[in-house]
Amino acid sequence: MTDSITRDGLRPRFWEKKPLAKMSPKEWEALCDGCGKCCLNKLEDEDSGVVVLTRVACRLLDDSTCRCTHYENRHTFVPDCIVLRPDTIADHAYWLPKTCAYRLLWQGKPLPDWHPLISGTAETVHEAGISVRGQTVSEFDTPFEEWEDYVIEEPE
Ligand code: SF4
Ligand code: SF4
Repeated sequence: MTDSITRDGLRPRFWEKKPLAKMSPKEWEALCDGCGKCCLNKLEDEDSGVVVLTRVACRLLDDSTCRCTHYENRHTFVPDCIVLRPDTIADHAYWLPKTCAYRLLWQGKPLPDWHPLISGTAETVHEAGISVRGQTVSEFDTPFEEWEDYVIEEPE
């Protein structure tokens, strides 16, 4: 499967030289590893604030490509879908998947070897078991009371 995210024409290892706030839109978009995990429904403990991801996917997620099926007009269907930008990352980092490139860089951590910007192919995200490909269940078919049964383990 080809990479649906444009990653050519970028400076080698630009993410190690530029802070998130200085990145061009193309560089910013290229950081996304395409895992699809941010499109999973989450459960948040009201007392502790701890967030866990479930395999119950947003209605617009394509489970085979791990992409949003209506990205450009997604807010018509999912009004609260977030827009991740350099100036909003601080507000969202706490719930983003632990492997998310934006969260990792925001935390000052390196990108993993399976990231497409390092491996050169989007397939490594799937091969490393990071993506949600073939892993999700429908939010239409899964009552909220059952979401706890679908919590996923995330790498520390
Ligand atoms: S979790 Fe992060 S890296 Fe994965 S698809 Fe979402 S924004 Fe991209
Ligand atoms: S609307 Fe699209 S981008 Fe937003 S969570 Fe759902 S699938 Fe993901």
